[in-house]
Amino acid sequence: MTTRMGTALITGASSGIGAIYAERLSRRGYDLILVARNRDRLNALAKRLSDETGRSVEVVAADLGAKADLARVEDLLRTDASITMLVNNAGIGATRPLLESNIDKLEDLLTLNVNVLTRLTYAAVPGFVARGGGTIINIASIVAIAPEVLNGVYGGSKAFVLAFSQSLHNELKDQNVRVQVVLPGATATDFWEAAGTPLQYLPSAIVMKAEDMVDAALAGFDQGEFVTIPSLPDIADLDAYEAARQKLVPHLSLSAPAARYAT
Ligand code: NAP
Repeated sequence: MTTRMGTALITGASSGIGAIYAERLSRRGYDLILVARNRDRLNALAKRLSDETGRSVEVVAADLGAKADLARVEDLLRTDASITMLVNNAGIGATRPLLESNIDKLEDLLTLNVNVLTRLTYAAVPGFVARGGGTIINIASIVAIAPEVLNGVYGGSKAFVLAFSQSLHNELKDQNVRVQVVLPGATATDFWEAAGTPLQYLPSAIVMKAEDMVDAALAGFDQGEFVTIPSLPDIADLDAYEAARQKLVPHLSLSAPAARYAT
């Protein structure tokens, strides 16, 4: 007898990291709802996965940057009680410096990477709490903690995903809502072409195969991690980073300025 995993709703499932999550989660026994704009690619993936795994795979073609489409997906998250997992993966990048960037494109990026992820999370969480549990996997990026690496607006959007995930993890941990935030480094997908730097311009030593990235992220999930950085060799480095952050926390808001600012 198999355990009932419920349904995972994955955004940006038509290609790259999201399509691999779809494949891996269906093999783990999840039914799927696949969301992205490209209906043909979603349908082809849905057919392949349902043929191969026997799971139910539903397709929702939606431009999450368009309010009416986003509202349809929010509605689904609010009303479909079979949904046990939300993978907030849809996202776009930018690799050019700020002064060479188009502000309208950066605004679209902020809409998808920040607003859409936030609205979908807020649509899913009350149902998870009411039903006694659920899982949110947020795909951030290593630029969340290294915003100097690519475009700063992209880095800022992923820093939001990390900070928002930290807060969700803290607020929901006693309600059996599991939150994982994944910080991939460069991963071989269509992302790079669309973001302004085709993959062939990156040193191969820093680029991970998307399959390896997702498998590592799911291994981190199975190990109970909250933050997963697939390529980080030594977890002690992340622990030290978090310990340094925690050491700051009690001193960040005090009634008097620090002695070094005495006038
Ligand atoms: P990708 O292959 O370009 O996938 C992006 C996905 O998002 C596609 O399925 C795309 O589908 C969907 N999408 C884009 N705009 C959308 C919209 N307006 N509405 C609905 N869906 C939309 O890139 P990826 O590398 O897999 O990216 C997935 C996530 O990983 C992103 O959040 C990205 O920031 C993050 N990430 C990637 C890397 C990397 O190096 N690749 C590293 C760190 C983090 P449609 O075009 O069909 O809509």
